[in-house]
Amino acid sequence: MNQHSLMNTTPSPFTFSGGIHPSYNKGLSSGSPIRELPLPARLVVPLSQHLGAPAKPIVQIGDSVKAGQLIAGQNGFISAPAHAPASGKVAALEETLTASGRTCGAVVIETSGPQEWQLLPPLPDWRAADKKDLAARIGEAGVVGMGGAGFPTRVKLSPPADKPIDTVILNGAECEPYLTSDHRMMLEYAKEIRAGAEIIRHILGAKSLRVAIEDNKPDAIEAMEKAFQEVDGDVAVTVLRTSYPQGSEKQQIYSVTGREVPRGGLPMDVGCVVENVSTAYAVYDAVVNGRPLVRRVISVTGDAVAQPSNLLAPCGTLYSDLVAACGGLRGKAAKVISGGPMMGFAVSSLNVPTGKTASGLLLLSASKVSCYTSQACISCGRCVEACPMRLAPAELSQCIEADDIEGAEQVALMDCIECGSCAFVCPAHRPLVHHMRRAKAIVMAKRAAAKK
Ligand code: SF4
Ligand code: SF4
Repeated sequence: MNQHSLMNTTPSPFTFSGGIHPSYNKGLSSGSPIRELPLPARLVVPLSQHLGAPAKPIVQIGDSVKAGQLIAGQNGFISAPAHAPASGKVAALEETLTASGRTCGAVVIETSGPQEWQLLPPLPDWRAADKKDLAARIGEAGVVGMGGAGFPTRVKLSPPADKPIDTVILNGAECEPYLTSDHRMMLEYAKEIRAGAEIIRHILGAKSLRVAIEDNKPDAIEAMEKAFQEVDGDVAVTVLRTSYPQGSEKQQIYSVTGREVPRGGLPMDVGCVVENVSTAYAVYDAVVNGRPLVRRVISVTGDAVAQPSNLLAPCGTLYSDLVAACGGLRGKAAKVISGGPMMGFAVSSLNVPTGKTASGLLLLSASKVSCYTSQACISCGRCVEACPMRLAPAELSQCIEADDIEGAEQVALMDCIECGSCAFVCPAHRPLVHHMRRAKAIVMAKRAAAKK
Protein backbone atom coordinates (compact mmCIF):
# COMPACT_ATOMS: atom_id res chain seq x y z
CA MET A 1 0.00 0.00 0.00
CA ASN A 2 1.25 3.50 -0.75
CA GLN A 3 1.75 5.13 2.65
CA HIS A 4 2.40 8.55 1.06
CA SER A 5 -0.84 8.71 -0.88
CA LEU A 6 -3.23 11.61 -0.30
CA MET A 7 -6.03 9.11 -0.61
CA ASN A 8 -7.95 8.26 2.52
CA THR A 9 -7.27 4.51 2.79
CA THR A 10 -8.72 2.68 5.76
CA PRO A 11 -9.09 -0.95 6.83
CA SER A 12 -12.71 -2.08 6.72
CA PRO A 13 -14.32 -1.14 10.03
CA PHE A 14 -16.69 -4.14 10.16
CA THR A 15 -16.40 -7.90 9.69
CA PHE A 16 -19.29 -9.99 8.38
CA SER A 17 -20.12 -13.20 10.19
CA GLY A 18 -19.25 -16.59 8.69
CA GLY A 19 -17.16 -16.99 5.58
CA ILE A 20 -14.23 -19.25 4.80
CA HIS A 21 -10.57 -19.17 3.77
CA PRO A 22 -10.02 -21.41 0.74
CA SER A 23 -6.67 -21.68 -1.10
CA TYR A 24 -6.72 -18.75 -3.47
CA ASN A 25 -4.27 -19.93 -6.18
CA LYS A 26 -4.36 -16.53 -7.84
CA GLY A 27 -0.62 -16.52 -8.54
CA LEU A 28 -1.16 -18.72 -11.59
CA SER A 29 -2.56 -15.81 -13.62
CA SER A 30 -2.28 -12.62 -11.53
CA GLY A 31 1.09 -11.75 -13.13
CA SER A 32 -0.22 -12.13 -16.70
CA PRO A 33 -1.00 -8.76 -18.27
CA ILE A 34 -4.28 -8.53 -20.21
CA ARG A 35 -3.77 -9.81 -23.75
CA GLU A 36 -6.22 -9.28 -26.62
CA LEU A 37 -7.46 -12.57 -28.07
CA PRO A 38 -6.96 -12.84 -31.87
CA LEU A 39 -10.46 -12.45 -33.33
CA PRO A 40 -12.12 -15.90 -33.58
CA ALA A 41 -13.57 -16.81 -37.00
CA ARG A 42 -16.94 -17.59 -35.42
CA LEU A 43 -18.73 -15.99 -32.47
CA VAL A 44 -21.82 -17.46 -30.84
CA VAL A 45 -23.47 -14.49 -29.11
CA PRO A 46 -26.00 -15.64 -26.47
CA LEU A 47 -29.26 -13.69 -26.20
CA SER A 48 -29.23 -14.28 -22.46
CA GLN A 49 -26.05 -12.73 -21.08
CA HIS A 50 -27.87 -11.03 -18.23
CA LEU A 51 -30.48 -11.52 -15.53
CA GLY A 52 -34.02 -11.18 -16.90
CA ALA A 53 -35.74 -11.77 -20.22
CA PRO A 54 -33.47 -12.80 -23.13
CA ALA A 55 -32.86 -10.14 -25.78
CA LYS A 56 -34.96 -10.34 -28.99
CA PRO A 57 -32.97 -10.79 -32.22
CA ILE A 58 -33.48 -8.09 -34.88
CA VAL A 59 -31.11 -9.52 -37.51
CA GLN A 60 -31.65 -12.22 -40.15
CA ILE A 61 -29.35 -14.94 -41.44
CA GLY A 62 -27.14 -13.42 -44.14
CA ASP A 63 -27.18 -9.86 -42.71
CA SER A 64 -23.87 -8.01 -42.59
CA VAL A 65 -23.14 -6.44 -39.21
CA LYS A 66 -20.53 -4.07 -37.84
CA ALA A 67 -18.87 -4.38 -34.45
CA GLY A 68 -21.07 -2.64 -31.88
CA GLN A 69 -24.22 -2.86 -34.00
CA LEU A 70 -27.44 -3.79 -32.19
CA ILE A 71 -28.37 -7.39 -33.03
CA ALA A 72 -30.97 -8.12 -30.33
CA GLY A 73 -33.17 -5.64 -28.48
CA GLN A 74 -33.98 -5.30 -24.79
CA ASN A 75 -37.08 -7.38 -24.12
CA GLY A 76 -38.76 -6.02 -20.99
CA PHE A 77 -37.82 -3.89 -17.97
CA ILE A 78 -35.33 -6.42 -16.55
CA SER A 79 -33.48 -7.24 -19.77
CA ALA A 80 -30.53 -5.95 -21.81
CA PRO A 81 -29.80 -5.64 -25.52
CA ALA A 82 -26.99 -7.52 -27.28
CA HIS A 83 -24.62 -6.07 -29.88
CA ALA A 84 -22.31 -7.62 -32.45
CA PRO A 85 -18.86 -8.08 -30.89
CA ALA A 86 -17.21 -7.97 -34.34
CA SER A 87 -17.95 -7.18 -37.97
CA GLY A 88 -19.08 -10.04 -40.16
CA LYS A 89 -22.10 -11.94 -41.42
CA VAL A 90 -24.93 -13.52 -39.44
CA ALA A 91 -24.45 -17.21 -40.20
CA ALA A 92 -27.16 -18.71 -37.99
CA LEU A 93 -29.78 -18.08 -35.33
CA GLU A 94 -29.66 -21.14 -33.10
CA GLU A 95 -29.78 -22.55 -29.61
CA THR A 96 -26.56 -22.70 -27.64
CA LEU A 97 -25.45 -24.27 -24.39
CA THR A 98 -24.52 -21.60 -21.85
CA ALA A 99 -22.05 -21.57 -18.98
CA SER A 100 -24.83 -22.31 -16.47
CA GLY A 101 -25.68 -25.56 -18.28
CA ARG A 102 -28.94 -24.14 -19.65
CA THR A 103 -29.63 -23.41 -23.31
CA CYS A 104 -30.68 -20.12 -24.90
CA GLY A 105 -30.96 -18.55 -28.34
CA ALA A 106 -27.83 -17.15 -29.97
CA VAL A 107 -26.77 -15.11 -33.00
CA VAL A 108 -23.84 -16.77 -34.77
CA ILE A 109 -21.50 -14.33 -36.54
CA GLU A 110 -18.79 -15.28 -39.04
CA THR A 111 -16.20 -12.58 -38.54
CA SER A 112 -14.45 -12.41 -41.92
CA GLY A 113 -13.74 -9.06 -43.57
CA PRO A 114 -12.46 -5.69 -42.34
CA GLN A 115 -13.41 -4.81 -38.79
CA GLU A 116 -15.48 -1.63 -38.59
CA TRP A 117 -17.18 -0.24 -35.47
CA GLN A 118 -20.66 1.22 -35.24
CA LEU A 119 -20.53 3.22 -32.01
CA LEU A 120 -23.15 5.24 -30.14
CA PRO A 121 -22.51 9.01 -30.08
CA PRO A 122 -19.73 9.54 -27.49
CA LEU A 123 -20.59 11.72 -24.46
CA PRO A 124 -17.15 12.91 -23.22
CA ASP A 125 -18.80 15.89 -21.48
CA TRP A 126 -20.95 13.59 -19.34
CA ARG A 127 -21.06 15.98 -16.36
CA ALA A 128 -23.25 18.28 -18.43
CA ALA A 129 -25.56 15.47 -19.62
CA ASP A 130 -28.95 14.73 -18.08
CA LYS A 131 -28.66 11.94 -15.47
CA LYS A 132 -31.62 10.05 -16.92
CA ASP A 133 -30.05 10.25 -20.38
CA LEU A 134 -26.81 8.83 -18.99
CA ALA A 135 -28.63 5.89 -17.36
CA ALA A 136 -30.51 5.34 -20.63
CA ARG A 137 -27.21 5.33 -22.56
CA ILE A 138 -25.79 2.70 -20.21
CA GLY A 139 -28.92 0.62 -20.87
CA GLU A 140 -28.70 1.17 -24.63
CA ALA A 141 -25.10 -0.06 -24.53
CA GLY A 142 -26.20 -3.31 -22.87
CA VAL A 143 -24.14 -2.81 -19.72
CA VAL A 144 -24.89 -5.37 -16.99
CA GLY A 145 -23.20 -6.29 -13.72
CA MET A 146 -20.04 -8.12 -14.74
CA GLY A 147 -19.24 -9.58 -11.31
CA GLY A 148 -21.51 -12.56 -11.85
CA ALA A 149 -25.22 -11.78 -11.55
CA GLY A 150 -25.61 -9.82 -14.81
CA PHE A 151 -28.26 -7.49 -13.40
CA PRO A 152 -28.94 -4.69 -15.94
CA THR A 153 -26.93 -1.67 -14.73
CA ARG A 154 -29.52 0.80 -16.09
CA VAL A 155 -32.03 -0.52 -13.54
CA LYS A 156 -29.55 -0.33 -10.65
CA LEU A 157 -28.78 3.28 -11.60
CA SER A 158 -32.46 4.28 -11.61
CA PRO A 159 -33.61 3.67 -8.00
CA PRO A 160 -37.09 4.88 -7.01
CA ALA A 161 -37.30 8.39 -5.50
CA ASP A 162 -37.98 6.99 -2.02
CA LYS A 163 -34.67 5.06 -2.05
CA PRO A 164 -31.96 7.75 -2.16
CA ILE A 165 -28.43 6.43 -2.59
CA ASP A 166 -25.71 8.06 -0.50
CA THR A 167 -22.89 5.55 -1.03
CA VAL A 168 -21.47 3.91 -4.15
CA ILE A 169 -19.18 0.96 -3.45
CA LEU A 170 -16.83 -0.04 -6.23
CA ASN A 171 -16.29 -3.77 -5.80
CA GLY A 172 -12.70 -4.80 -6.44
CA ALA A 173 -12.69 -7.68 -3.94
CA GLU A 174 -12.56 -10.53 -6.47
CA CYS A 175 -12.78 -13.04 -3.63
CA GLU A 176 -13.27 -16.14 -5.85
CA PRO A 177 -10.13 -18.33 -5.83
CA TYR A 178 -8.09 -18.45 -9.06
CA LEU A 179 -9.79 -15.48 -10.80
CA THR A 180 -7.67 -12.40 -11.54
CA SER A 181 -9.49 -10.50 -14.30
CA ASP A 182 -10.70 -7.69 -12.00
CA HIS A 183 -7.26 -7.53 -10.38
CA ARG A 184 -5.62 -6.98 -13.79
CA MET A 185 -8.31 -4.45 -14.77
CA MET A 186 -7.51 -2.39 -11.65
CA LEU A 187 -3.77 -2.47 -12.46
CA GLU A 188 -4.12 -1.69 -16.17
CA TYR A 189 -7.29 0.43 -16.49
CA ALA A 190 -7.36 2.35 -13.20
CA LYS A 191 -8.17 5.74 -14.78
CA GLU A 192 -11.00 4.37 -16.90
CA ILE A 193 -12.46 2.57 -13.86
CA ARG A 194 -12.25 5.83 -11.91
CA ALA A 195 -14.12 7.66 -14.70
CA GLY A 196 -16.81 4.97 -14.70
CA ALA A 197 -17.15 5.22 -10.92
CA GLU A 198 -17.49 9.00 -11.14
CA ILE A 199 -20.21 8.65 -13.79
CA ILE A 200 -22.08 6.17 -11.55
CA ARG A 201 -21.80 8.46 -8.52
CA HIS A 202 -22.93 11.45 -10.62
CA ILE A 203 -26.03 9.61 -11.93
CA LEU A 204 -27.04 8.49 -8.43
CA GLY A 205 -26.19 11.81 -6.77
CA ALA A 206 -24.35 9.83 -4.08
CA LYS A 207 -22.18 11.68 -1.57
CA SER A 208 -19.70 8.92 -0.81
CA LEU A 209 -17.59 6.67 -3.01
CA ARG A 210 -15.73 3.68 -1.57
CA VAL A 211 -13.33 1.43 -3.46
CA ALA A 212 -13.37 -1.96 -1.72
CA ILE A 213 -10.38 -4.28 -2.28
CA GLU A 214 -9.16 -7.32 -0.34
CA ASP A 215 -5.79 -7.01 1.38
CA ASN A 216 -4.31 -9.78 -0.78
CA LYS A 217 -4.02 -7.29 -3.70
CA PRO A 218 -1.67 -4.56 -2.43
CA ASP A 219 -0.68 -3.50 -5.97
CA ALA A 220 -4.33 -2.99 -6.94
CA ILE A 221 -4.89 -0.97 -3.75
CA GLU A 222 -1.97 1.25 -4.72
CA ALA A 223 -3.20 1.63 -8.32
CA MET A 224 -6.68 2.62 -7.13
CA GLU A 225 -5.27 5.04 -4.53
CA LYS A 226 -3.30 6.80 -7.25
CA ALA A 227 -6.21 6.90 -9.69
CA PHE A 228 -8.77 8.16 -7.19
CA GLN A 229 -6.69 10.69 -5.26
CA GLU A 230 -7.81 13.58 -7.46
CA VAL A 231 -11.49 12.73 -7.24
CA ASP A 232 -13.46 15.35 -5.28
CA GLY A 233 -15.63 14.69 -2.27
CA ASP A 234 -15.91 11.83 0.19
CA VAL A 235 -13.78 9.19 -1.52
CA ALA A 236 -11.78 6.42 0.16
CA VAL A 237 -10.24 3.03 -0.50
CA THR A 238 -11.52 0.47 2.00
CA VAL A 239 -9.13 -2.44 2.52
CA LEU A 240 -11.10 -5.61 3.22
CA ARG A 241 -9.70 -8.57 5.11
CA THR A 242 -9.25 -11.48 2.68
CA SER A 243 -12.20 -13.72 3.38
CA TYR A 244 -14.64 -15.47 1.08
CA PRO A 245 -17.33 -14.23 0.10
CA GLN A 246 -16.10 -10.68 0.70
CA GLY A 247 -17.13 -9.74 -2.87
CA SER A 248 -20.78 -10.59 -2.29
CA GLU A 249 -22.90 -7.41 -2.22
CA LYS A 250 -24.54 -7.76 1.18
CA GLN A 251 -21.34 -8.85 2.93
CA GLN A 252 -19.39 -6.05 1.28
CA ILE A 253 -21.92 -3.38 2.24
CA TYR A 254 -21.63 -4.54 5.85
CA SER A 255 -17.81 -4.62 5.76
CA VAL A 256 -17.63 -1.11 4.31
CA THR A 257 -20.52 0.72 6.00
CA GLY A 258 -21.78 -1.46 8.86
CA ARG A 259 -25.26 -1.37 7.29
CA GLU A 260 -27.23 -4.63 7.11
CA VAL A 261 -29.41 -5.23 4.06
CA PRO A 262 -32.68 -6.65 5.47
CA ARG A 263 -33.77 -10.21 4.59
CA GLY A 264 -35.29 -10.15 1.12
CA GLY A 265 -34.10 -6.56 0.68
CA LEU A 266 -31.79 -4.84 -1.77
CA PRO A 267 -28.68 -2.66 -1.34
CA MET A 268 -30.81 0.39 -2.20
CA ASP A 269 -32.81 -0.27 1.01
CA VAL A 270 -29.73 0.84 2.96
CA GLY A 271 -28.72 3.67 0.59
CA CYS A 272 -26.01 1.74 -1.26
CA VAL A 273 -25.25 0.67 -4.81
CA VAL A 274 -22.41 -1.81 -5.41
CA GLU A 275 -20.80 -1.98 -8.85
CA ASN A 276 -17.99 -4.27 -9.92
CA VAL A 277 -14.77 -2.62 -11.22
CA SER A 278 -15.16 -4.17 -14.68
CA THR A 279 -18.74 -2.84 -14.83
CA ALA A 280 -17.37 0.63 -14.00
CA TYR A 281 -15.01 0.26 -16.96
CA ALA A 282 -17.95 -0.74 -19.20
CA VAL A 283 -19.91 2.31 -18.00
CA TYR A 284 -16.97 4.54 -18.91
CA ASP A 285 -16.62 2.89 -22.33
CA ALA A 286 -20.37 3.19 -23.07
CA VAL A 287 -20.59 6.86 -22.06
CA VAL A 288 -17.23 8.36 -23.05
CA ASN A 289 -16.49 6.23 -26.13
CA GLY A 290 -20.04 5.18 -27.10
CA ARG A 291 -18.96 1.52 -27.18
CA PRO A 292 -21.57 -1.09 -26.23
CA LEU A 293 -20.53 -3.93 -23.92
CA VAL A 294 -19.32 -6.58 -26.36
CA ARG A 295 -16.05 -7.80 -24.84
CA ARG A 296 -14.53 -8.43 -21.46
CA VAL A 297 -11.45 -9.74 -19.70
CA ILE A 298 -11.61 -13.38 -18.66
CA SER A 299 -9.07 -15.35 -16.62
CA VAL A 300 -8.27 -18.69 -18.26
CA THR A 301 -6.48 -20.51 -15.49
CA GLY A 302 -5.87 -23.70 -13.52
CA ASP A 303 -3.09 -26.28 -13.58
CA ALA A 304 -4.49 -27.99 -16.72
CA VAL A 305 -3.97 -25.03 -19.06
CA ALA A 306 -0.52 -24.48 -20.60
CA GLN A 307 -0.30 -20.68 -20.12
CA PRO A 308 -2.76 -19.27 -17.58
CA SER A 309 -3.77 -15.86 -18.96
CA ASN A 310 -6.09 -12.90 -18.72
CA LEU A 311 -7.64 -12.49 -22.16
CA LEU A 312 -9.67 -9.59 -23.55
CA ALA A 313 -12.18 -11.58 -25.60
CA PRO A 314 -15.32 -10.71 -27.56
CA CYS A 315 -18.53 -12.00 -25.96
CA GLY A 316 -19.50 -15.13 -27.88
CA THR A 317 -15.97 -16.58 -27.97
CA LEU A 318 -16.05 -20.36 -27.55
CA TYR A 319 -14.14 -21.75 -24.58
CA SER A 320 -12.18 -23.91 -27.03
CA ASP A 321 -10.79 -20.71 -28.67
CA LEU A 322 -9.78 -19.35 -25.25
CA VAL A 323 -7.94 -22.56 -24.38
CA ALA A 324 -6.17 -22.60 -27.77
CA ALA A 325 -5.00 -19.00 -27.22
CA CYS A 326 -3.46 -20.12 -23.90
CA GLY A 327 -1.31 -22.80 -25.55
CA GLY A 328 -3.87 -25.59 -25.16
CA LEU A 329 -4.23 -28.07 -22.37
CA ARG A 330 -1.40 -29.35 -20.20
CA GLY A 331 -2.30 -33.04 -20.09
CA LYS A 332 -5.96 -33.72 -19.49
CA ALA A 333 -8.52 -31.46 -17.81
CA ALA A 334 -10.43 -33.58 -15.30
CA LYS A 335 -12.77 -30.71 -14.51
CA VAL A 336 -13.71 -27.55 -16.41
CA ILE A 337 -15.51 -24.82 -14.50
CA SER A 338 -17.12 -21.76 -15.96
CA GLY A 339 -16.26 -19.10 -13.36
CA GLY A 340 -14.45 -19.77 -10.10
CA PRO A 341 -14.38 -22.96 -8.03
CA MET A 342 -16.83 -21.66 -5.39
CA MET A 343 -19.67 -20.21 -7.44
CA GLY A 344 -18.89 -21.43 -10.95
CA PHE A 345 -20.60 -24.18 -12.93
CA ALA A 346 -18.91 -27.38 -14.10
CA VAL A 347 -19.22 -27.68 -17.88
CA SER A 348 -18.91 -30.85 -19.93
CA SER A 349 -17.87 -29.24 -23.21
CA LEU A 350 -15.60 -26.46 -24.45
CA ASN A 351 -18.21 -25.69 -27.10
CA VAL A 352 -19.75 -23.05 -24.82
CA PRO A 353 -19.60 -19.31 -25.55
CA THR A 354 -18.53 -16.56 -23.16
CA GLY A 355 -20.92 -13.78 -22.21
CA LYS A 356 -20.85 -10.46 -20.38
CA THR A 357 -20.63 -12.12 -16.95
CA ALA A 358 -17.89 -14.66 -17.81
CA SER A 359 -15.00 -13.70 -15.55
CA GLY A 360 -13.15 -17.00 -15.61
CA LEU A 361 -12.61 -20.40 -17.14
CA LEU A 362 -10.93 -22.86 -14.79
CA LEU A 363 -9.29 -26.06 -16.03
CA LEU A 364 -8.13 -28.50 -13.36
CA SER A 365 -6.14 -31.72 -13.63
CA ALA A 366 -7.17 -34.90 -11.79
CA SER A 367 -4.64 -34.12 -9.03
CA LYS A 368 -6.66 -31.02 -8.07
CA VAL A 369 -10.07 -32.64 -8.14
CA SER A 370 -11.40 -34.63 -5.19
CA CYS A 371 -14.28 -37.07 -5.49
CA TYR A 372 -16.30 -37.57 -2.32
CA THR A 373 -19.26 -39.70 -1.43
CA SER A 374 -21.91 -37.76 0.41
CA GLN A 375 -22.73 -39.11 3.88
CA ALA A 376 -25.41 -38.47 6.46
CA CYS A 377 -25.37 -35.16 8.30
CA ILE A 378 -23.60 -35.47 11.66
CA SER A 379 -25.16 -32.25 13.00
CA CYS A 380 -21.76 -30.70 13.59
CA GLY A 381 -23.02 -27.16 12.90
CA ARG A 382 -20.00 -26.15 10.81
CA CYS A 383 -22.22 -25.12 7.89
CA VAL A 384 -24.16 -22.76 10.16
CA GLU A 385 -20.93 -21.16 11.37
CA ALA A 386 -19.67 -20.72 7.80
CA CYS A 387 -22.86 -19.33 6.28
CA PRO A 388 -22.41 -15.58 5.71
CA MET A 389 -26.19 -15.14 5.42
CA ARG A 390 -26.76 -16.66 8.87
CA LEU A 391 -28.89 -19.46 7.43
CA ALA A 392 -29.14 -23.05 8.64
CA PRO A 393 -27.86 -24.96 5.58
CA ALA A 394 -28.32 -28.42 7.16
CA GLU A 395 -31.97 -27.69 7.93
CA LEU A 396 -32.55 -26.18 4.50
CA SER A 397 -30.97 -29.20 2.86
CA GLN A 398 -33.12 -31.61 4.87
CA CYS A 399 -36.31 -29.78 3.80
CA ILE A 400 -35.23 -29.84 0.16
CA GLU A 401 -34.29 -33.54 0.23
CA ALA A 402 -37.75 -34.25 1.65
CA ASP A 403 -39.23 -32.22 -1.22
CA ASP A 404 -40.57 -29.72 1.29
CA ILE A 405 -39.71 -26.65 -0.79
CA GLU A 406 -42.26 -24.50 1.06
CA GLY A 407 -40.63 -25.46 4.35
CA ALA A 408 -37.26 -24.43 2.91
CA GLU A 409 -38.74 -21.10 1.80
CA GLN A 410 -39.93 -20.51 5.35
CA VAL A 411 -36.37 -20.88 6.63
CA ALA A 412 -35.15 -18.25 4.15
CA LEU A 413 -34.08 -20.43 1.20
CA MET A 414 -34.27 -17.44 -1.15
CA ASP A 415 -31.70 -15.53 0.95
CA CYS A 416 -29.06 -18.12 0.03
CA ILE A 417 -26.44 -16.46 -2.18
CA GLU A 418 -25.13 -19.85 -3.39
CA CYS A 419 -21.65 -18.99 -2.14
CA GLY A 420 -20.74 -22.61 -1.38
CA SER A 421 -19.21 -21.88 2.04
CA CYS A 422 -21.45 -24.48 3.72
CA ALA A 423 -20.46 -27.27 1.31
CA PHE A 424 -16.79 -26.28 1.60
CA VAL A 425 -16.71 -26.94 5.36
CA CYS A 426 -19.10 -29.91 5.54
CA PRO A 427 -17.21 -32.99 6.82
CA ALA A 428 -19.97 -35.24 5.46
CA HIS A 429 -19.49 -33.76 1.96
CA ARG A 430 -23.20 -33.03 1.62
CA PRO A 431 -24.06 -31.41 -1.75
CA LEU A 432 -25.60 -28.44 0.03
CA VAL A 433 -25.26 -25.79 -2.71
CA HIS A 434 -26.58 -28.20 -5.29
CA HIS A 435 -29.72 -28.60 -3.15
CA MET A 436 -30.09 -24.82 -2.68
CA ARG A 437 -29.71 -24.11 -6.38
CA ARG A 438 -32.20 -26.79 -7.34
CA ALA A 439 -34.79 -25.61 -4.82
CA LYS A 440 -34.33 -21.94 -5.70
CA ALA A 441 -34.84 -22.78 -9.38
CA ILE A 442 -38.12 -24.54 -8.48
CA VAL A 443 -39.32 -21.48 -6.51
CA MET A 444 -38.32 -19.09 -9.32
CA ALA A 445 -40.11 -21.23 -11.92
CA LYS A 446 -43.24 -21.29 -9.72
CA ARG A 447 -43.13 -17.53 -9.28
CA ALA A 448 -42.68 -16.99 -13.03
CA ALA A 449 -45.62 -19.31 -13.78
CA ALA A 450 -47.80 -17.47 -11.23
CA LYS A 451 -46.91 -14.12 -12.89
CA LYS A 452 -47.92 -15.43 -16.32
S1 SF4 B 1 -24.50 -21.48 -0.17
FE1 SF4 B 1 -26.27 -20.50 0.83
S2 SF4 B 1 -26.65 -21.73 2.64
FE2 SF4 B 1 -24.58 -22.24 1.92
S3 SF4 B 1 -23.23 -20.87 3.06
FE3 SF4 B 1 -23.71 -19.82 1.14
S4 SF4 B 1 -25.50 -18.55 1.61
FE4 SF4 B 1 -25.31 -20.05 3.28
S1 SF4 C 1 -21.63 -29.20 8.07
FE1 SF4 C 1 -22.52 -30.99 7.06
S2 SF4 C 1 -22.51 -32.55 8.63
FE2 SF4 C 1 -22.20 -30.60 9.70
S3 SF4 C 1 -24.29 -29.91 10.24
FE3 SF4 C 1 -23.84 -29.02 8.26
S4 SF4 C 1 -24.68 -30.47 6.79
FE4 SF4 C 1 -24.51 -31.56 8.73
